[in-house]
Amino acid sequence: MKEKNEIRKYEQIIGYDAHVHLREEDMTKLVIGDTLHQFGGCLAMTNLKDPADNPKKLAEYWRFIFPLISRDRKFQLAMPLMLTKNVTAETISQSSPYTKIVKWIPGTTSTNSEMGLSFSDLEKDFSILEAIQKEKMFFSGHFEKAFTDKGALIPLKYQEEEALFLVEKIRKNFPDLIIVFEHISSKAGAKFFLANLEKMACTITLHHLILNDSYLYKKYSEKINPFFYCKPCLKSEDDRRTILELAFSGLENVFFGSDSAPHPLFKKEADPPAAGLFSAPILMAALIELFERHGKLPLLENFTAINARKFYNLEIPEEKITFLKSNWTIPETISNGNISVPVLLGGTELKWKQKFK
Ligand SMILES: [Zn+2]
Repeated sequence: MKEKNEIRKYEQIIGYDAHVHLREEDMTKLVIGDTLHQFGGCLAMTNLKDPADNPKKLAEYWRFIFPLISRDRKFQLAMPLMLTKNVTAETISQSSPYTKIVKWIPGTTSTNSEMGLSFSDLEKDFSILEAIQKEKMFFSGHFEKAFTDKGALIPLKYQEEEALFLVEKIRKNFPDLIIVFEHISSKAGAKFFLANLEKMACTITLHHLILNDSYLYKKYSEKINPFFYCKPCLKSEDDRRTILELAFSGLENVFFGSDSAPHPLFKKEADPPAAGLFSAPILMAALIELFERHGKLPLLENFTAINARKFYNLEIPEEKITFLKSNWTIPETISNGNISVPVLLGGTELKWKQKFK
């Protein structure tokens, strides 16, 4: 029997995905539709095979992505400049008319980040941060430290926590720098964030809200399950609950960024597997289900559609998005014949389905 007050329809202002990987070439054409259907804008990451670390490369990527968006659609597309070893203070000021965001992924932390400025390089020399602050740009950071100063690997689950001393140092040295703590995933990270709310925002992914590290390893084994392997990695149940609380905090500088990061199946099955989860097809449906289950549905519009836009000074669109309660099974993969991409939680069911006009 249906409950008396059960909601069957959910409507809100169309969301903004503040952190998504749309990739390049045929992969983009395969995955971009999922973002375009559910969101009215996104910050498309530029850690391409050749990272967009100057205005020319940014323009090239823009020219590739933009024609894939329907012309009769208002879509708020933004792209960050990638902070690689090639970026100088001059590159920052040259890029400032084109983007307001500089993205740092420490070298070798994530996909195509080999060129990224290393953790120790940034630690040694803050001059680039001075340039970012001077241009009033946003410093968007993947705050993970992968290796100790002696070169030993730091266990995945501690990599975010181990990076916090650097964020703290940056905060102290550049009180006016606007920092975005991307895909915050740990209790330690959340504690730091809550103690430093001034000129700081954080993004939260779907997967860190709904999954813990029991998914990260294969059953009865220490082997990583590639289909739940991403960076920052899934953390303990305690961490997950803390991040959930942060998402439900109602704070204006906390917003959604999926970090949806597609990889072809063969790369996920390789040894070592590629890090990244392709969550784009399920984002809004899974978020509605999660927020509804916790009685927090009234907070979802701010989390997904309002907060990020206010933070990045974007217009709030009028376009609405509608979901109806209707079960559907998440496909295992999406494919164009050549590439097959595993979908997060493929084969399981969701309760909400998008209604297209
Ligand atoms: Zn990312």
